[in-house]
Amino acid sequence: MIYPIVAFGDPVLKKKAEEIEKGTDIKKLVEDMFETMYEANGVGLAAPQIGLSLRLFIVDAEPMDPENLQGYKKAFINPVIVEEFAEEWSYEEGCLSIPGVRAHITRPETITVKYYDTDWNEHIEDLDGMKARVFQHEYDHIEGILFVDYISTLRRKLLKGKFSDISKGRVDVDYKMKFPLRK
Ligand code: ZN
Repeated sequence: MIYPIVAFGDPVLKKKAEEIEKGTDIKKLVEDMFETMYEANGVGLAAPQIGLSLRLFIVDAEPMDPENLQGYKKAFINPVIVEEFAEEWSYEEGCLSIPGVRAHITRPETITVKYYDTDWNEHIEDLDGMKARVFQHEYDHIEGILFVDYISTLRRKLLKGKFSDISKGRVDVDYKMKFPLRK
């Protein structure tokens, strides 16, 4: 089942999401999230982006760099960033909830994360480079943070009209979206 992707301006995107009770069967939900993400050609999708305020996100970054990101297809349930290492790097990010907007964002290059998979096995892993990048972007979603929250006040002012258009559905997207201010 393909969910509509919630657009910028919806309060669910600004909310800190709730932990999922251990043992909950979320396999169907995860499957549907993958279907939704592939339909929109995304590399990551967090539950709040389909309107569910839950600490869950999925990634499949393999298409970005098949050589280095092979097998980086995962569901992260109740994820935690255990450690962030000091080295940072900048990369231009985008978001399925904010179509047409991209910005360079600086993030730690290496992180240690802890999460559950869909069988509720616990994992602890070091992620670096693009893997860490995608993880942190999605992790922010379950904390109610969007990548545009990191850009300068001036740039945000300049994008105000664009943000308003997105909330109202005045954007050209080729995937299904839900716009909070569409009349
Ligand atoms: Zn996003």
